[in-house]
Amino acid sequence: MPAVLDNPVHPSVREFLSRKIHKLLIGGEWREALSGKIFDTYNPATGDVIAHVAEANQSDVDLAVKSAQKALEGPWSKATPAEREKLLWKLADLVDKNAEELAQLETLNNGKPIRESLKGDLPLASSLMRYFAGWPTKIHGETTPVSVPYAPGARFLHYTVREPLGVVGAIIPWNFPLLMAIERLAPALACGNAFILKPAEQTPLSALRLGELVLEAGFPAGVVNILPGFGPGAGAAMASHPEIDKITFTGSTEVGREIVKASTGNLKRLSLELGGKSPNIVFADADLDAAAKGMFMGIFYNQGQCCSAGSRVFVERSKFDEMVSKLSERAKTVRQGPGLDPKTQMGPLVSEEQKKRVLAYIDSGRKEGAKLLSGGAPGAGKGFFVEPTVFADVKDEMKIAREEIFGPVVCVMPFESADEAVRRANLTRYGLVAGVWTKDVKKAHQMAASIKAGTVWINCYHFVDAAAPWGGYKESGWGREKGPYAIEHYTELKSVWVDLN
Ligand code: NAP
Ligand code: MG
Repeated sequence: MPAVLDNPVHPSVREFLSRKIHKLLIGGEWREALSGKIFDTYNPATGDVIAHVAEANQSDVDLAVKSAQKALEGPWSKATPAEREKLLWKLADLVDKNAEELAQLETLNNGKPIRESLKGDLPLASSLMRYFAGWPTKIHGETTPVSVPYAPGARFLHYTVREPLGVVGAIIPWNFPLLMAIERLAPALACGNAFILKPAEQTPLSALRLGELVLEAGFPAGVVNILPGFGPGAGAAMASHPEIDKITFTGSTEVGREIVKASTGNLKRLSLELGGKSPNIVFADADLDAAAKGMFMGIFYNQGQCCSAGSRVFVERSKFDEMVSKLSERAKTVRQGPGLDPKTQMGPLVSEEQKKRVLAYIDSGRKEGAKLLSGGAPGAGKGFFVEPTVFADVKDEMKIAREEIFGPVVCVMPFESADEAVRRANLTRYGLVAGVWTKDVKKAHQMAASIKAGTVWINCYHFVDAAAPWGGYKESGWGREKGPYAIEHYTELKSVWVDLN
């Protein structure tokens, strides 16, 4: 066993981690990478290696595509919609049954506090699975009353059908590893596609355990393939693969652009969920206690590693000093530690690389003249900790106010009027989410209408649900995941004409 685990760990997690190599799931079997390559995965709370994982590359992707196609030609296309529903329900039940183990694995590999993985990620993941489990029997076409102008009097039966796209590839990040995997897998399978997942290099473990549950649920071989590996290897091979029909990508805007370029060969369908630099706007007439909690949680949840992090907080001038001090005082009391410790309020960042990146942003904030009110330093110990950091005196042009930091760093800025708040909120290439705090209903709706973002939360923050669409304006992405909108982009729509003359 490659690592020592000090905290109380579920026996099945110990057993899972004790395996010599974690293999790839291809065609219903666990296989070593064709290259024989493996890579290490870490516990970010200690920096220790906790497992060795097979590293997929182009040839493994080719094999997975063949297995997926075989499943599509064989048993998977024959499964009735009701059978697909049952399998997805069964998988959701298995996720719930193993929730504690999956949550520990997630916390060990990603760093997030166990309370967040167990009470947040896990129930959300199984609820997503059940939401999409309800869809297969409801995905239908329509009959269309057609009148063809150049064939007067001719009669036709016209109808549409929604068909699976084929092989769907998902490339996902490390911030919500299991949740992201399930959020992509569930609609893809509900629509009858076969699925290939590349988890992030930092967090392959929960996805691999999910693969075991997929087999236990009884999905036919090849319907789900799981290929841990690296972006330039397995990821790029998937993005450019001529026989992958769609890529659903979540990650940085920069890599999103690479995916777009790589997809042009077979013009595969794409959905992209990318970065953000989201505004969280507090008016003086808001419930200030609620707003203070919303500001805090908006940025510091998941160590700030949320695409939807409220990283630019705007506070109306008359309440600015009060709110800034509430936020920075609270940040100073946060208890950081290993995610498995139930007393931990904030865990480490996911990796050494991410820690360095975030600390470099903090440094740049200082150099550009922003005022550091709390945090600003790495946490104690060997883990990848960074203190929750609050900056005031931030200018819109500063790097820390423009670029996505993806860590526990917030810029707090005053504003004078709603118009100014809207203008500055929209002063970004991103457009994923926004928060608005006010008791004035008219102002709340005016703000919701004026902010260019895929989601606007009024007097709340970070709420998501399987039924509510999720995605970004501008450079935050293409398309919407979740809800009925997902069904549209995991299917092709076919138009059928029948001559009745
Ligand atoms: P990332 O570097 O963009 O990586 C995302 C995924 O893409 C990883 O699996 C990565 O593999 C892979 N990848 C990297 N280069 C690739 C390439 N050339 N071709 C194909 N795949 C490639 O992002 P990250 O560092 O993992 O996550 C942080 C970023 O994701 C942030 O910018 C954040 O905003 C964004 N994000 C957005 C959302 C959303 O819902 N909009 C959600 C979560 C995260 P590796 O594992 O080797 O890097
Ligand atoms: Mg990366």
